[in-house]
Amino acid sequence: MECELGKTRTNFVFGSGNSSAEIVFIGEAPGRNEDLQGKPFVGQAGKILDELLLSIGFNRSDVFIANVLKCRPDENRDPKLEEINKCKKYLLEQIEIIDPKIICTMGKYSTQLILNTDTTITKLRGKIFRVENRVVLPINHPAAALYTPSRFGILKEDFQRIKMILDNYENPSTIAGLVDLAEAGATGSFGLGAAASLLSDSNSSISTEKGPAVSTEPDLQKSKNEQLGLF
Ligand code: URA
Repeated sequence: MECELGKTRTNFVFGSGNSSAEIVFIGEAPGRNEDLQGKPFVGQAGKILDELLLSIGFNRSDVFIANVLKCRPDENRDPKLEEINKCKKYLLEQIEIIDPKIICTMGKYSTQLILNTDTTITKLRGKIFRVENRVVLPINHPAAALYTPSRFGILKEDFQRIKMILDNYENPSTIAGLVDLAEAGATGSFGLGAAASLLSDSNSSISTEKGPAVSTEPDLQKSKNEQLGLF
């Protein structure tokens, strides 16, 4: 087994939701409930996420939700860099397949991974980044609102910004505060920029085949579902 976490997990928590979603939400790692049920964000933090989604008129079937790590770290400890490095290929390929307009990174780990930076989430939250052809919005992890209820208001404001970005997506100049990736202080050793090389890595244990050329939306959805293991 490539990663030690695979030995202690109950389930590999791949992700769930709409394979053609315009928004992908990325958390940290499965906790106890997620490990037992095999789905992301099914515990207390998940209830907050559901409420935030509802506040902009979405439910889980409109979006895709995944984590940086697919297996639960023991005692819910923080992910280790070596675990992130072993697991990131799954997340990066999920993003390639789903091809969302917006990636909403929730908390430190997903934000630093996707933006390829060591800059803190405190400095990055509140900014909107253009990364290749997508928009990345770093927000606090919903679990932060469990311990500090005042953070719920900040999360709600950030979800309104998601709506604003989607509404203005075709006219980026109207997206207030949109900046290029360089402004995130992209100095780290991983991130979306690394996706292309990761995906061609022959050690990757998941297929890099893009599947047959598809011409219609339902076919595309079916192909994406199959590639993501959603049936
Ligand atoms: N926290 C996360 O980051 N991910 C989950 O799936 C659940 C809680």
